Amino acid sequence: MSYVTTKQLTKSFGDNTVFENVDFTIDQGEFITLLGPSGCGKSTLLRSLAGLNPVDQGEIWVNGENITHQSPQERGIGMVFQSYALFPNMTVESNIAFGLKMKKVLSDEVTKLVSNVIELVDLKGKEKQYPHQLSGGQRQRVALARALVVKPRILLLDEPLSALDAKIRKHLRQQIRDIQKEMNLTTIFVTHDQEEAMIMSDRIFLMNQGEIVQAGSPEEIYTQPANEFVAGFMGHYNLIDSSGAKALLDLDTPNKVAIRPESIYVKEEGRQYAQHISSPRQGVIKSHQLLGNIIRYQVAVEECELTVDLLNRSSERLIPEGSSLELLFNLNEIQPVGAQNDTTFVCL
Ligand code: ADP
Ligand code: MG
Repeated sequence: MSYVTTKQLTKSFGDNTVFENVDFTIDQGEFITLLGPSGCGKSTLLRSLAGLNPVDQGEIWVNGENITHQSPQERGIGMVFQSYALFPNMTVESNIAFGLKMKKVLSDEVTKLVSNVIELVDLKGKEKQYPHQLSGGQRQRVALARALVVKPRILLLDEPLSALDAKIRKHLRQQIRDIQKEMNLTTIFVTHDQEEAMIMSDRIFLMNQGEIVQAGSPEEIYTQPANEFVAGFMGHYNLIDSSGAKALLDLDTPNKVAIRPESIYVKEEGRQYAQHISSPRQGVIKSHQLLGNIIRYQVAVEECELTVDLLNRSSERLIPEGSSLELLFNLNEIQPVGAQNDTTFVCL
């Protein structure tokens, strides 16, 4: 049986319908990421689950209980925001203990629970410090500890890593995932960063304009995008219309197709290719971007401009702009995608 269920959840601010009839289920212990562009309704949905934004219609169920009209305190949900929201005049310890004191937990018990959670989030030695004496990463760990200490049924995290620099971000996301697994804590994490979503999640709910357009494992969403929006948002897919598909792939299809940049290869002389590799097409390099271990080329082929990712091997030199080359397509990696009109196409 699912642990969290929403039924026909709907929320507007005045004339602005943020989401409508949102239905999903989440299992106990699952790590779900709400992923989508800025403004698509992620925070509003999360706040609705927490009881901070009342919904207009629909129901929220947790563990067989209808919590739609419960106050935030009654729900047993912990929340962490991007902005930490710590009390500046309280020490780390007092910030973490605050929720327990509100619940009138006995003082000995508070001391024990706070000390356990401080250990869990790796803040030992910082108990007596104030928020302004901590780094961003440490402050966010205090916020996480404060949410965890009350043993929530569900943990909600709204872009908790967005204000942190890349190194701390990577470390903390691993730490969050480890703690979540250890506690088997049902978690909904919000981000607009697809890499973060791919790395952390059991399942991703990809949102666009208030709708969950695809729900699935990171692998499913990456390799089988349900539509053009998903293909465009995940993995820099090339979207090719039916005339492009004919010209490039000799494929007769009424639909558009999507192919990832790493599924297009540059033909190497003398090498034998398998059946599922297309015949070569002549292209010209338009530009490139260096992305660390890969080089991302824009290549003009037939009437299309394609994104092609090649490994940045030290033994190979950069292919100069204006060079001609022959491209091959991995036909096993071509995904048909249905029509949706909110994406720009590479093939006109
Ligand atoms: P996201 O978190 O995906 O960036 P939000 O949930 O913050 O998106 O916003 C979704 C939409 O709801 C936006 O159009 C935003 O302007 C609107 N919105 C969010 N909060 C409020 C509010 N308190 N009052 C009015 N409109 C809001
Ligand atoms: Mg938001």
